[in-house]
Amino acid sequence: MCICINCQYVDRCSTYYAVEAQHLQPHLTESPDFEATEPSINVNIRQDGDVIEMEWDVVGCESFLAEPGKWSRLRPGELLPT
Ligand code: SF4
Repeated sequence: MCICINCQYVDRCSTYYAVEAQHLQPHLTESPDFEATEPSINVNIRQDGDVIEMEWDVVGCESFLAEPGKWSRLRPGELLPT
């Protein structure tokens, strides 16, 4: 799971914006104004028959600033992104 969902910058960060795009998720912001320092992205590739799925997760980041539950507070009642 992406560490960004518990990061204070999740609704401003250009890296998380790119992850949302990869997951075809709606963006928390259309104009990210924060650049993360050295984010590490883990890409999982799964094949199910002819379908290839890619899952992008930020697994480390110098800019991470803990704010537990930040994503959930912005999207109350929605399932956490995988
Ligand atoms: S952990 Fe890093 S990449 Fe993720 S939202 Fe926070 S600053 Fe951005």
